[in-house]
Amino acid sequence: MFEEDQTENYTPLERLRHSSAHVMADAVQALFPGTKLAIGPAIETGFYYDMDVPRPLTAEDLEKIEAKMQEIVDRDEPFRREEVSKAEALELFKKRGEIYKVEIIEALPGDKVTLYRHGDFVDLCRGPHVESTGKIAAFKLLSVAGAYWRGDEKNKMLQRVYGTAFPEKPQLEAYLTQLREAEARDHRKLGKELDLFSMMEEEGPGLILWHPKGARVRATIEDFWRAEHRREGYELVYTPHMAKLDLWKTSGHVDFYKENMFSPMEVEGQDYEIKPMNCPFHVRIFNSRMKSYRELPVRLGELGTVYRFERSGVLHGLLRVRGFTQDDAHIFCRPDQLQGEVEQVLKMTLRFLGTFGFNEFELFLSTRPEKSVGSDENWDLATKALRGALEAQGLAFKV
Ligand SMILES: [Zn+2]
Ligand SMILES: [Zn+2]
Repeated sequence: MFEEDQTENYTPLERLRHSSAHVMADAVQALFPGTKLAIGPAIETGFYYDMDVPRPLTAEDLEKIEAKMQEIVDRDEPFRREEVSKAEALELFKKRGEIYKVEIIEALPGDKVTLYRHGDFVDLCRGPHVESTGKIAAFKLLSVAGAYWRGDEKNKMLQRVYGTAFPEKPQLEAYLTQLREAEARDHRKLGKELDLFSMMEEEGPGLILWHPKGARVRATIEDFWRAEHRREGYELVYTPHMAKLDLWKTSGHVDFYKENMFSPMEVEGQDYEIKPMNCPFHVRIFNSRMKSYRELPVRLGELGTVYRFERSGVLHGLLRVRGFTQDDAHIFCRPDQLQGEVEQVLKMTLRFLGTFGFNEFELFLSTRPEKSVGSDENWDLATKALRGALEAQGLAFKV
């Protein structure tokens, strides 16, 4: 996760963007003396740098930083690589008060590290970089957000400044236009403007309140979902929001899924868990009475509301939440029915996606993960059925 570990395979674009991160850090240190630097990698959309700045940065500050960056770009200072011993690097960064760099260096293996300099600026970095700051022809700072040092909320909150850079100005302009359009359609903004839903920042982050208009849209979708499932031979069920933790111990979720589950609550001396998944309940319904093999397949469907632990820092609108309602179903069938069932599910899924206008997508076939339950034989059977269903529909997929 540290830039030293991910720079080796930088593409030319990433090299440009990571070089822009150095120039930005230089500009911030020039404008805000005492700023300490953490990490500044290139990312898919540009770059960022996590910095410990003496005061919170504002939108106007970003403009000032951009102007300062332009000065550094105009000076066309060469990026210079330097290899030094760890002891020298530690001394250098200690002298400069760069406590985060010191922490990074101390954890690095080997006894040599590389530095990259331009002008008076120096950073611990494996590189590579563009030749000189003048190569950074089109850049823009986008936003500033809080980010904990090493992503750990027990550590100090740093300021993460995001920016982007492109080889040519028109590419940057096109990207910024696209960003503005996406922002205008941001579901969080629309949700508020159209009075569809809201979030409880204080009383329950990641838990959604559906307002009357949003609830009407949701109910319409749910009615469509129910009608389609009945038509496809599903029985619809409802299951509770909590049960004894033992239920998820038996199902294996406690072993395999614990990091996504909330802590249990105590009821009459027993641990109860708020449900992260509906599966064990559906299995219970299926097992509640003896069935003849002629009754198979049994298809159970539920709009099941589940609760999963997500760190507060990653919650995002309706996309990353702590409570959400799943379009969930479990099919109990004979081995000889497996491929037919999978094909039916696949057709139904494609029809649902198409109904909502999703016609372009990539398909991935998931195979046995490292953590798994079940015999090799069953995994083999299941994988074959999935593969067969995809091939029967003539769909391209990746494994
Ligand atoms: Zn670098
Ligand atoms: Zn399930």
